[in-house]
Amino acid sequence: NSVGRGYGARYGGFPRRGIRSNFVPPIRSNGANTGHMTSRVSGKGDDALEDSTKRCLEMLCGPDGELPEKLRNLEPRLIEHVSNEIMDRDPNVRWDDIAGLEHAKKCVTEMVIWPLLRPDIFKGCRSPGRGLLLFGPPGTGKTMIGKAIAGEAKATFFYISASSLTSKWIGEGEKLVRALFGVASCRQPAVIFVDEIDSLLSQRKSEGEHESSRRLKTQFLIEMEGFDSGNEQILLIGATNRPQELDEAARRRLTKRLYIPLPSSEARAWIIRNLLEKDGLFMLSKEDTDTICKLTEGYSGSDMKNLVKDASMGPLREALRQGMEITKLRKEDMRPVTLQDFENALQEVRPSVSMNELGTYEDWNKQFGSLS
Ligand code: ADP
Repeated sequence: NSVGRGYGARYGGFPRRGIRSNFVPPIRSNGANTGHMTSRVSGKGDDALEDSTKRCLEMLCGPDGELPEKLRNLEPRLIEHVSNEIMDRDPNVRWDDIAGLEHAKKCVTEMVIWPLLRPDIFKGCRSPGRGLLLFGPPGTGKTMIGKAIAGEAKATFFYISASSLTSKWIGEGEKLVRALFGVASCRQPAVIFVDEIDSLLSQRKSEGEHESSRRLKTQFLIEMEGFDSGNEQILLIGATNRPQELDEAARRRLTKRLYIPLPSSEARAWIIRNLLEKDGLFMLSKEDTDTICKLTEGYSGSDMKNLVKDASMGPLREALRQGMEITKLRKEDMRPVTLQDFENALQEVRPSVSMNELGTYEDWNKQFGSLS
């Protein structure tokens, strides 16, 4: 079950081709065409692999045309899944897209971005932790921060939801985790973002813990241990809305733990302005914006986005009510978005986080959070 050496050079004698080449292999290799070419890939002939899988493996080959050691014992289809579905080549979020969270941005810059940009300086006493936990209510920008880190540090971003490992990848989660860390180590510097990490590293299973989820958790911790002790340029970011479910082993590995709270009033104002301005729809006065901010106490960033979306439908709905036809409607025919549109939208879009939940986060932050 291992990918042999000289992989890139071995595609039925195909010449090695560049990533962007349009080269079409002379033999269709879709599994139906097996037999004459045997190889050391999963015990199957090379022909048994899809062209897309071959291309993907080829991109991971070193300059010598060989697959890196770490990937040789992994299943090609899992490597392909990681490369295509989990790896995000262009996370496309910058710090400036994230409202508020100044404290988190400052900590993350120092702890993560500088070390990724200057590994030569950040060693010895300055060597950074390799695990970061972002915790707090849903929809507050945790995923955005993960993407922005990758963007700012020019790192490859890998996103996986831990619950998909336990649900969608039943029985294969361990292998996928190995493939994930394997590909990440070939794409350094890398940021691996594990959403809902509590479902992977939770403490509550011990008794009824399923054998497979226990193995998955062990595998995950082993992988983390592996890059923690080495010189790898890999950062693991776990995100959770349920930090209290993480066990001690998880906390130990996620050395920096940052609380990502609900947006402040200023941050909410910023989100409103930023989203509307992008579409040239921002005409609200300072007073109106302040009023909306007062009315949206307790709204998350994601709730704010939904609110703005709903409010921006106001002028359109009104124009149609007045008898205009959607096909003939011009942008100029619509009035700007007003406070009244927001007041209407507030009836539809309610806050998704309850105040009691906030207390839990604050308590956990006091006990385990990195306050500085
Ligand atoms: P989380 O990972 O904390 O659940 P996300 O980062 O996925 O939340 O945020 C969901 C959406 O909500 C984002 O795509 C963005 O539109 C909006 N959002 C949340 N927090 C912020 C923020 N601080 N600044 C700007 N937009 C935000």
